[in-house]
Amino acid sequence: MYHCVNCGAKIEELYRTYCPNVLKLLECDRCGHLADKYIEYDPAIILVDLILLDKRAYRHLLYNCDLKYCWKLVIIIWLIESFRNLSLCNYSESNTKVLKAFQPAFDEHCNFYLVLLRTAISFAAFFIVVVFLTRIKKFFYQTRTDKDNMTHLWKALVIGGSCKLLGLLEITWGHIFLAPHYLLILGYTLLCLLTAYSVVSDNGKLESLVIIGIGSLVYNCASNFLSTTFPILD
Ligand SMILES: [Zn+2]
Repeated sequence: MYHCVNCGAKIEELYRTYCPNVLKLLECDRCGHLADKYIEYDPAIILVDLILLDKRAYRHLLYNCDLKYCWKLVIIIWLIESFRNLSLCNYSESNTKVLKAFQPAFDEHCNFYLVLLRTAISFAAFFIVVVFLTRIKKFFYQTRTDKDNMTHLWKALVIGGSCKLLGLLEITWGHIFLAPHYLLILGYTLLCLLTAYSVVSDNGKLESLVIIGIGSLVYNCASNFLSTTFPILD
């Protein structure tokens, strides 16, 4: 089942093909606009709208596109975040102390495999908390939570969290230890997560902010707890 990118209403088909060269986009019954104008758009324009946090672009990507290879994106995000965390291990200058207020603390000479494990556990904690809070909210508001919703939620968190890939630029340009760069990436990642999450959950801005905020807090707490409980020295 597809969704209208303007209002989110479910729709059975987005376009009709009358002959190989003629395609007609259908209108949404609820809002009267074209159900998904992005079908005819260039991928570069869709990417620009995604960067600009347009909810319609997120609906197009999450509901009307076939995201079969989302798990590959998860692995890339996991590796880059782990590599970034590993890079912090061997950095012992004074500005690391500033960073430790915002991100996991590490000792010197880390073991990469343990960093990988710790990052995976932290990501899992974030996902579990967000899913749990979403289910609680839906339980109290008596809205149905089907398997399809959970799939979309999982994809939304991956797409929103993919802004972590900006950390790759940090590593490439050697600005990995500077707090302003990290805070910019963190802030933009949270905005992307909020947009993607509010699209699939139909929550208001405040509810989405609270749930994603708690999830991010748990992510940081899990990382810090694991780093102090299980030291990752060689
Ligand atoms: Zn509509």
